[in-house]
Amino acid sequence: MEYINSPVGAISRVGLGTWAMGGWGEVITSEADEMAVETIKKAVEMDVTLIDTAPAYGEGHSEKLVGRALKESGYRNKVILATKCGLSWDDKGTVYRDSRPETLKKEVEASLERLQTNYIDIYQVHWPDADVPIAETAQCLKEILDSGKIRAIGLSNYTNAMIDEWRKYAPVHFIQPSYNILEDKLFENQIPYAQEHGISILGYSSLCRGMLHGTYTKDTKFNDGDMRGEKDPKYLGENFLNHLAAVDELKEYAKTLGKKVDEIAMRWVLDKGVSCALYGCRKPHHLGPIAGCTDFKLSPEQCDYMSYLVAKHVPVQVGKEYLAPPLMSEL
Ligand code: NAP
Repeated sequence: MEYINSPVGAISRVGLGTWAMGGWGEVITSEADEMAVETIKKAVEMDVTLIDTAPAYGEGHSEKLVGRALKESGYRNKVILATKCGLSWDDKGTVYRDSRPETLKKEVEASLERLQTNYIDIYQVHWPDADVPIAETAQCLKEILDSGKIRAIGLSNYTNAMIDEWRKYAPVHFIQPSYNILEDKLFENQIPYAQEHGISILGYSSLCRGMLHGTYTKDTKFNDGDMRGEKDPKYLGENFLNHLAAVDELKEYAKTLGKKVDEIAMRWVLDKGVSCALYGCRKPHHLGPIAGCTDFKLSPEQCDYMSYLVAKHVPVQVGKEYLAPPLMSEL
């Protein structure tokens, strides 16, 4: 495993992403929970030191599984625990943005309880909330930071201009943008920005919600409620076929390097400058590529060649707008 310095100490360059543990929209079974807990423990045993979760992942379910796994294993002090705030949900399960200070103060207590810990290493605002001035949210997180309940502040899905505004009121230690080879053009300005301001980057959806594992085909069916089959434009119609064709090219290229496509796709994220690439996983037997992406490097020319292969099939990249939860004022 490779490590990189960050404001909360050395972090592994691959972090475990636990979104899917809260479900992709389907009903979560107790078998799935057991597998998820095993996945977390095994990832730490593979020297992954960063775990990313959020209250919004299954209405607290993912956080509870992380808390349980760390408690049972005694691994809490081996990991950098990253969670989020600023998304709430109503009785019908509709998730919406809410970064009001009064909400955040309650949220941090609820997360500490679900995670069975008395501090959170990285506390990230999940999505910017245009209903609440950035100054108010930033000042509130600064207070929580000063209280010692959190050790660092992160911002996810914020633009560089929004981060500039935030930095007038509170520090930003981490950002969490989406970053993978199928969507890089949309977020490429965030890496130089972070480097200039000494901010560490946790890149999310490193494998484009699983597509870059190379196991999906045009006949792959996703469960009802799974956004990959219903809302994500990369997974729909002709776009899906174009993305699969790009993945096929990358698969052939991976073979020439003696690697698998998910390994070179993860490596590409790391070699483009992301501090820690989040690897989404909820099954222990799916953890293999974590080791396979940290024992080699891609040169800048190899990274460019991979981007060229993708651009042949996906000339216009489509983004993550479908993921964005509504504002309270839009409900
Ligand atoms: P990803 O790493 O791009 O893809 C993960 C998915 O790949 C798994 O859940 C799994 O689906 C699928 N998969 C298919 N074939 C596989 C194989 N052979 N081996 C392993 N997995 C396979 O994940 P992501 O979950 O979208 O993103 C990673 C993490 O980033 C998240 O877990 C979360 O922590 C974070 N994230 C943050 C935001 C944000 O707004 N800040 C948004 C999205 C994600 P199944 O679950 O169906 O097995």
